[in-house]
Amino acid sequence: MKLTGSIVFVTGASAGIGEACAFAFAREGARLLLAARRVERLEAMRAKLMDAGAQDVHAFGLDVRDNAAVQKAIADLPDVWRAIDVLVNNAGLSRGLDKLYEGKPEDWEEMIDTNVKGLLYVTRAVVPEMVERGRGHVISLGSTAGEITYPKGAVYCATKAAERAINDGLRQDVLGTPVRVTSVDPGMVETDFSLVRFHGDETRAAKVYQGLIPLKPEDVADAIVWAATRPAHVNIARVVMTTIDQANSLMFHRS
Ligand code: NAP
Repeated sequence: MKLTGSIVFVTGASAGIGEACAFAFAREGARLLLAARRVERLEAMRAKLMDAGAQDVHAFGLDVRDNAAVQKAIADLPDVWRAIDVLVNNAGLSRGLDKLYEGKPEDWEEMIDTNVKGLLYVTRAVVPEMVERGRGHVISLGSTAGEITYPKGAVYCATKAAERAINDGLRQDVLGTPVRVTSVDPGMVETDFSLVRFHGDETRAAKVYQGLIPLKPEDVADAIVWAATRPAHVNIARVVMTTIDQANSLMFHRS
C-alpha cells in the first residue's frame, strides 16, 4: 500500500521511536498528525519533516492518560485531518526498576495509566471512524517485555503483556472490516526510555546499553512502515525484533 497523502497519527512523537516514525512516514509522503505532551518539540520537528517529504504536519499537545482530553482532541480535529489511515500507538514509558514488593505505587500508576489506559483511550477515540470508513490500521508498540517478564520489571512487563492482549482482542473485534491491527514488539532500543525509567539518571541509563549494539529507533520505525505498506489484504499480527545481541527479554550478549 502506498502511504502518499495518507493521514498517519503518531502518539508520543516528540522523541525516540515515535519521532523516528514521524520521519519514516514523512519519507513515504504521508500527512502527519503528531501528539505528545512536549508540543514544542513537535513544532521544532515540523520543518525537517516537511523537508523529509511529509505532505503536511498537524501537531498538538496531548497527555494520553487524560481520557476526556483524548476524546476531545480527536473530536475537535479539523475536517481535513479526521480520516486517520494509520494510528501508531507509541506513547509509553517505564518508571523504576525495583523488586515488586519494594516498588513505588506512583511509578506503577504512571506506567499503567500511560501504557494501558492511554493506549485504550486513543484506540477507542480513533477506531470507530476507521470501521465506519472501511479503512485503517492500528499499530501499537508492544515489547519483548510483554512476552517474558524480567526481574524488577514486573509492572512494565505487565503493561506490555496487556498491550499484547489488547492488540489481539482488537484484531478479533474488527474482524469482518478492512481495519488492520499490528503489534510491533522490540527488545532494547536506545532512546530516552532508560533516562525516563531512571528519572533522569544519565549514568545509570547509559549502563543499560553498555557492551552491546542496541536497536536504533529507526530500525523499529522501519518495521512499522513495512507493516503499514503491505497489500491491503495482508495483516501483520506481530513483529518481534531485537538487536543481534539480545535473544529475549532476559538474555543479552555483552562484550
Ligand atoms: P522515549 O524516547 O522516552 O519516548 C517516549 C515518547 O512517549 C515521548 O515522545 C513521550 O512524549 C511520549 N509519552 C510518554 N508519556 C506520554 C503521555 N502521557 N502522553 C503522551 N505522550 C507520552 O521512549 P521510546 O523508547 O521511544 O518508547 C516508545 C514506545 O516504545 C513505548 O511505548 C515503549 O514502551 C516502547 N518500547 C521501547 C523499547 C526501548 O527499549 N526503548 C522497547 C520496547 C518497546 P512527551 O514526554 O513529550 O509526552
